Amino acid sequence: MNADTRIYLDHAATTPVDKRVLKAMLPFFTKTFGNSASMHSFGLEAEKALDEAREKLAQALSCTKEEVFFTSGGTESDNLAILGTVRRFKREGKGKHIITTQIEHHAVLHAIQHLERKEGFSVTYLPVSKDGFVSVSSVENAITPETILISIMHANNEIGSIQPIKQIGELARRKSILFHTDAVQTFGKLSTNVNDLNVDLLSASSHKLYGPKGVGLLFVRKGTPIESINFGGGHERGLRSGTENISGIVGFAEASRLAQENLEKEAEREKRLRDKLIHGVLKVEGSWLNGSRENRLPNNANFGFDFIEGEGIVLYLSDRGIAASTGSACSSHDLKPSHVLTAIGLPPEKAHSSLRLTLGRSTKPKHVSYTIEKIIEVVAKLRELSPLKKGVEFKTSAGWKEDEHEHGVECKH
Ligand SMILES: *Cc1c(COP(=O)(O)O)cnc(C)c1O
Repeated sequence: MNADTRIYLDHAATTPVDKRVLKAMLPFFTKTFGNSASMHSFGLEAEKALDEAREKLAQALSCTKEEVFFTSGGTESDNLAILGTVRRFKREGKGKHIITTQIEHHAVLHAIQHLERKEGFSVTYLPVSKDGFVSVSSVENAITPETILISIMHANNEIGSIQPIKQIGELARRKSILFHTDAVQTFGKLSTNVNDLNVDLLSASSHKLYGPKGVGLLFVRKGTPIESINFGGGHERGLRSGTENISGIVGFAEASRLAQENLEKEAEREKRLRDKLIHGVLKVEGSWLNGSRENRLPNNANFGFDFIEGEGIVLYLSDRGIAASTGSACSSHDLKPSHVLTAIGLPPEKAHSSLRLTLGRSTKPKHVSYTIEKIIEVVAKLRELSPLKKGVEFKTSAGWKEDEHEHGVECKH
C-alpha cells in the first residue's frame, strides 16, 4: 500500500460497472439503438434484446418474464410498488392502512410518509430489535381489517440486518395482504427467489450489483392490482411509460447473470473478509458493532466508537485512501442522526459515531488489514482531539473540527 492507495469500501452506496457488463452494453448505444416500440427492424432488434434481458432477470427471481417491469432504479421501483398499489385500492374503496418498518430506505419511507401526510392513508412504522430485526409477531399484531400493503426491506443498507421475509410473506398471504420487499441490497448477493420469499412485489437496482446506474426492476406477481404512477406511451405493458433504457437494461441483465453465477462463493468470500474486519476493528477500545453479528449482509460492517464522530473518521480515512461512509449526516447536533441507528436504540451521540464499511468483489485480504490498521490510527488521533473524552459537553464537540481538521467540514444533506 503506497500513497496512491485507494480502497473502495462503500459498495452499499454504489458499485463500479463490471468490464464484462460494459462490453455487453456497448453495441446498444450505437448499433442496436432502436426504440422497442417501433415496428421496423431497429425496433425489433431492441425488442429482442429487451426480451432476452427480461428473461435473464426473471430467472434470477424465479418468476416469468411478464412479471418483470423495468424502471429507472430502486427508488422508482419502490415508489411504483407502493403508490401504484395503494392508490388503486383507495380508488376502489378498499382499506387505507399500510405497515412498514422504521428502518426502510428513504425511497420507501418518504413515499409512505407522503401517503400518510397528503393522501389520507394511515401507517404503522414497526420498531426493530437492537440488532435491527422486525419480528413476525409485531407484523401480525399490526394488521387490521383496513391493512392493504406491507412493505419491509429484505436487508438493511446501513446495518445489513436480513429480515424474516419468507415468514412475513407467509403471514401476508394468509391474510390476503399485498407484500412488497425492497431487495436492492440483496439482489445479486443472496437468493431472491420470489416464491421462496412469498412476495408480491420486489424492487431491485442495477448499480448495486456492478451494473450501470439509472436502471432497476420491479417484480409484480401476476394478478397483483397495481396502476401506473406516470403516464405516456404505454411501455412496459402500460405500467411504466418511457422508452426503455436498452443499454442499461442489457447491462443490468448481464450484471445479474454474473452475480448469480458466483452468488454463494462470492458471498462466502466477502463474509470471511467482513468477519476479519469486524474482529480487527472491535479490538479498538470503546468500539462496537451496529447490527447483528450473524444475520447480516455478507459484505456489511457498521461500527461505532465512543467519543468521536463518524464524519471525522470518514474524512480521515479518505485522506488515507479508504472510501467509507457514516450514518451521521453532519457534525452539528441539531441534525438528526440516521433513522436506522436511532431505531436500533442508539442515543444520538452513539448514532453520530457510526462508520459503515461495505466490501465488494475487488476487496482483498490486504485491503482489510490496511483498513484495520488505519482505523486504529484514525480513532486514536481523533480521540486525542476530542473534547468529549475530556468530559466537555457534547454540543461543543465540533471544536476539534474548527481547530484541527484538515478539511473544514461542511454539512452535507
Ligand atoms: C440504493 C438503495 C435504493 C435506491 O436505489 P437507486 O437505484 O439508487 O434509486 C433503495 N433501497 C435500498 C435498500 C438501497 O440500498
